[in-house]
Amino acid sequence: MMKKSYKIDVDCANCANKMEEAAKKTAGVKDVVVNFMALKMNVEFEEGAEPKAVMQEVLKNCKKVEDDCEIFL
Ligand SMILES: [Zn+2]
Repeated sequence: MMKKSYKIDVDCANCANKMEEAAKKTAGVKDVVVNFMALKMNVEFEEGAEPKAVMQEVLKNCKKVEDDCEIFL
């Protein structure tokens, strides 16, 4: 199982939840937990997924729902 943790920037818990939902819908992502207090996103990847490529799509999808957010890749 491949898991990675990323530092994020987002303005409130509600937007953090939106990021989490958008990230979960991204191909190659098995599960996502966003911790607003810690400003961290923990991502579990599908078997065989390429984290760098998947995270580019996660960032795009998160920006669609909350254009002020950031994921430090
Ligand atoms: Zn917000």
